[in-house]
Amino acid sequence: MNKFMQEALKEAEKARLAGDIPVGCVIVKDGEIIARSYNEREAKKAPTAHAECIAIERAAKALHDWRLSDCDLYVNLEPCAMCAGAIINARMRRVYFGAYDGEYGAAGGKIDLFTEFSGVKTCVLGGIMEKECEKTMEDFFLALRQRKEIAEKTEDGYRITAYRDAEVKDGEEAVFSVSCNESSISLCFQKAFLGEIILPMPQSAYVTVKGEKQKAAEGELKIKGNFSNQERINIEFEKN
Ligand SMILES: [Zn+2]
Repeated sequence: MNKFMQEALKEAEKARLAGDIPVGCVIVKDGEIIARSYNEREAKKAPTAHAECIAIERAAKALHDWRLSDCDLYVNLEPCAMCAGAIINARMRRVYFGAYDGEYGAAGGKIDLFTEFSGVKTCVLGGIMEKECEKTMEDFFLALRQRKEIAEKTEDGYRITAYRDAEVKDGEEAVFSVSCNESSISLCFQKAFLGEIILPMPQSAYVTVKGEKQKAAEGELKIKGNFSNQERINIEFEKN
């Protein structure tokens, strides 16, 4: 069971890398994966391109049958009403999902379409690898919030819209003036600073501190040092 949920999470990662909400899905028949998919709502600009709907289409094509009554579906997030409807219409045998969705879940998290209709035979089991699945979603939304605070994605890179106050560890207040263009941001100290600053990195970047350029991974960057007034930190986001 966990083996297939791991596969669904691998698919979810593909969605995350493409900038879509990280939901991935696999459909299993006789112990074999017959379809895989991930959320492509942003990529395809299609409101119905949820992982489950895409996987169901693919499985039906592979089996030359709209009935998937011997198939089980694994997805890292509780299906929404649209996907639950597709699963019911495909007459799937079982659904295994990871994290509950209290807002849009249609398998018990918010509503339960599977128990609503008397003819439905699909058996649903939620909370599989729940911690990992929840973390996948939480990490995605945290990164999205940070990115929104700092930069807006454009056709050819990032336009910096703001920079939240840098967090300071073991030091006094860090005061910057901020200047930016399409893909880079320059922070200029407005008074001398000694200590450690933590800067959120919405994506990987090259950061120049004291004349030294280093690659910084997505997440957060900790910079320790003694900075004089007007000294700069330059951040160039990598284009993807
Ligand atoms: Zn859905």
